[in-house]
Amino acid sequence: MQGIFDSHAHYDDKKFDGDRGALLRSMPENGVCRILNIGCDLTSSQQSIDLAEQYDFIYCAVGTHPHEAKMMSRFYLEIYREMAAHPKVKAIGEIGLDYHYDFSPRDIQKKVFDEQMALARELSLPVVIHEREALPDTLEILKRYPGAGVVHCFSGSAETAREILRLGYHVGFGGALTFKNARRALEAAAVLPLERILLETDCPYMAPEPHRGKRNDSTLLPLVAQKLAEIKGITAQEVVDATRENACRLFGIA
Ligand SMILES: [Zn+2]
Repeated sequence: MQGIFDSHAHYDDKKFDGDRGALLRSMPENGVCRILNIGCDLTSSQQSIDLAEQYDFIYCAVGTHPHEAKMMSRFYLEIYREMAAHPKVKAIGEIGLDYHYDFSPRDIQKKVFDEQMALARELSLPVVIHEREALPDTLEILKRYPGAGVVHCFSGSAETAREILRLGYHVGFGGALTFKNARRALEAAAVLPLERILLETDCPYMAPEPHRGKRNDSTLLPLVAQKLAEIKGITAQEVVDATRENACRLFGIA
């Protein structure tokens, strides 16, 4: 399969320390032509920019994950504003709300999410949204910022998928779609038009079956494309082509 766009990867993660260079150099020959590496805090956002400078097919997003929201100093937005001036920064993310772990207090999660949504609007950049067990509050904030972005690692219902569509957002699917308990996400994928779907790994996490639990990377995305192809009644290559075009359009990448 050729022309895969992985719209959500964390190649700065220490799980890649042993073989990062060899793995990333092998991407083009494995059909992976674009990767958006996603920041989770100030450090990983800078590391994402560093990777984008080293590899022509890597682009990046900068932002603070809800887990890290409580770590932000007064000046974090200023730093992201400066980082976003880099030509390979194509989105603000990942940002959002996570009430499953609650690693940061919810009021601080909401404040930091809202501030970064405002920054994305100011800079005319799309957003990469993380949502876990925080759907009503997430939708409330998205409604105030209708525009461009993707709700990543989607596991919600078909009804929620329709709501996200109405707000103008895309939906990202990864390895979880291949898991045995994925019935709800499969129903959501079925109702979503192909033009609003992105492929993603969330690597090193979320390896698709039959690699579940192992380290994930972008070369496993054909397994997710195959699953989406079955749902849509098209070929896996058609899924890869459509999701690449969607991601290129959303993130303004040629
Ligand atoms: Zn992620």
